[in-house]
Amino acid sequence: MNLIFLGAPGAGKGTLATQLGKEYEIPQISTGDIFRSAVKEGSELGRKVQGIMEKGELVPDALTVELVKERLTLQDVQNGYILDGFPRTIAQADALAAFQKIDMVINFKISDDVVIRRLSGRRVCRSCGAIYHVENMPPKVEGKCDKCGGELYTRDDDTIESIKNRLRVYKEQTEPLIAYYSGEGLLRDIDSATSPEHSLAQIKSLVK
Ligand code: ADP
Repeated sequence: MNLIFLGAPGAGKGTLATQLGKEYEIPQISTGDIFRSAVKEGSELGRKVQGIMEKGELVPDALTVELVKERLTLQDVQNGYILDGFPRTIAQADALAAFQKIDMVINFKISDDVVIRRLSGRRVCRSCGAIYHVENMPPKVEGKCDKCGGELYTRDDDTIESIKNRLRVYKEQTEPLIAYYSGEGLLRDIDSATSPEHSLAQIKSLVK
């Protein structure tokens, strides 16, 4: 199964891609995670994308597509994969279609209010990338990852200003993909406003 998780920032794509990927033994490929680790390493790619990400803008299509192309040559994608946060523009979707066959696109539906509440309370583990929320999904010990004991931090782009910009960018550049994949008969909606468990159950009933 080659899957795409589509939806606004904060819709829960990353959390659910991790869970489903583990269960189905297919890799979760998150362009956001790849860019964040490049920033952390201070590589050339990281230096290029750091400012763009902090503002909540999109990394240029050519650079992003190249990265995904390279990632999809690795052996672990043979039984399928979950693309989380890619494609984010029509140009990226066209580029992907030229070399991959996608089986299903899961559209995570959510309102702006819920997104803002979720992202402003989100905490991420610096070591393993696990995702928490101060109210909805708190760690057992404040500031510490349940899974690896790593330090939890607030992403640089989870400020109110950047969240609002990411929502604007999503509406302008990514939302048109809903019509794009719907036209290809690949789109399936889920309601992602409640709990991760509820989202997971909905996805599993679609991906059988
Ligand atoms: P979120 O979905 O919470 O906004 P991501 O982790 O998916 O966060 O992405 C974080 C940032 O990384 C984006 O705001 C953007 O700057 C960059 N990015 C990630 N994926 C893409 C992509 N497919 N195209 C362009 N930029 C991207």
